[in-house]
Amino acid sequence: MTPIKIIILGAGYAGLTASLQLQKQSLGDQVEVTLINKNHYHYQTIWLHRNAVGVNTKEQTAFDLREILDLERIRFIKDKVTAIDCDQQVITTSNGEYPYDYLIIGLGSEIDSFQIPGLKEHAYSITSLSRSTRLFDQIMASLLQYSQTTMETPFHLIVGGGGFTGVELLGELTERLPELCSEMGISPSQIKLKSIEYEPTVLPEFDLELGEYAMQQLEKRHVEFYLGTKIRSVSKTSIKIERSGLVEDIPVDLFVWTAGVKGHHLIDQMNIPSELGRVEVEADLTAPGYPNIFIIGDVALIRNQEGKPYLPNADIAIQKAKVAVHNLLVKLNQKGQSQSFIFKNRGTIASIGSKDAIGVTGKGRRIFGRLASILKKISDYVFLFQMGGFKLIWYQFIKQKNKK
Ligand SMILES: Cc1cc2nc3c(=O)[nH]c(=O)nc-3n(C[C@H](O)[C@H](O)[C@H](O)COP(=O)(O)OP(=O)(O)OC[C@H]3O[C@@H](n4cnc5c(N)ncnc54)[C@H](O)[C@@H]3O)c2cc1C
Repeated sequence: MTPIKIIILGAGYAGLTASLQLQKQSLGDQVEVTLINKNHYHYQTIWLHRNAVGVNTKEQTAFDLREILDLERIRFIKDKVTAIDCDQQVITTSNGEYPYDYLIIGLGSEIDSFQIPGLKEHAYSITSLSRSTRLFDQIMASLLQYSQTTMETPFHLIVGGGGFTGVELLGELTERLPELCSEMGISPSQIKLKSIEYEPTVLPEFDLELGEYAMQQLEKRHVEFYLGTKIRSVSKTSIKIERSGLVEDIPVDLFVWTAGVKGHHLIDQMNIPSELGRVEVEADLTAPGYPNIFIIGDVALIRNQEGKPYLPNADIAIQKAKVAVHNLLVKLNQKGQSQSFIFKNRGTIASIGSKDAIGVTGKGRRIFGRLASILKKISDYVFLFQMGGFKLIWYQFIKQKNKK
């Protein structure tokens, strides 16, 4: 008898959690679980702002899938998925085709340029480990180049987007740039760090008070904010912005775009209704009309009781993976009760550098400063625990120790 084939796409928070959950099951020879991911590693997306400034190395943020998976139980294929045919039940990758009986899709988010001219060509981003590493290399190369000039005009580093990712990146930059400048003989005052945000406040996903706090802390560290400002176009040396109806060009040496993310482009190419790379899934996390396909992580859209989509984050991605695996096992074993997904909000915290942060606890309490920063660091490990238990925390601990 040919085994039942389960394929998991993507080894992010959602896909890796699903793989580790399935790995724990005694599925026997009659079930074959395959994980397909474009890299041989999982990376902690929530640490990418640290990679972008060189505080974290690639090794610290990446987890080698061949080391954390039981390859006897999970077949791992390092390959790039290029198409998902949900009617023929076949996954196409750069190097092959894989038929499936059940599919779990966790391909994550991608950058959305909102069709801004020049953005794709000239902006750096931090949506993946390779992009973050590329940004750090570019920061170093640009500063080095600048240090070899007369340094008469300032160096402009502009971050597009004052949301969660933008603020976390600005926080790291304010701490790291002075160090890098002194290494290269540049006066830190020569660096103009700017943030451009379309909304009238930063961190629009939090409440006004938290956004104000974050902005004040960053302003104290000399970040200049352009709020209520639209980016019209980007070129190598300038950005055309519009605020209060006035259009102007501001100079730029390095531009990082953190504002727009959308679900994976392959989602919109499947024969399933979707919008901006996200599928509004059924309560059991299957795709509408496809009870053998589970969609989890950032590519699954779920609404709260008020009908508003939950913001994608690592916590909800992990929770979705666990419910999807439970429901898949119910189908496989033909016993037990399928679960409807209910999000358990455990709070969200955004860092503003290594010693400051803002956030909201699961009970809706606002937190600031040192306490929030400590809770943020603890939550990093809580995520690891939720994904892979103490084994994953231990793996990270040993990895860090060996690097020292
Ligand atoms: C810089 C940054 C900071 C963030 N900080 C936080 C935070 O502090 N807290 C928080 O809760 N959330 C944070 N988020 C959001 C959070 O990281 C995402 O919501 C979470 O990663 C979603 O998990 P996922 O598994 O859906 O996708 P991902 O974790 O992005 O995983 C997707 C996986 O799919 C793989 N993949 C993609 N395309 C292909 C392909 N074609 N073929 C094969 N494999 C592919 C990728 O390599 C990746 O391994 C942050 C996001 C970013 C970008």
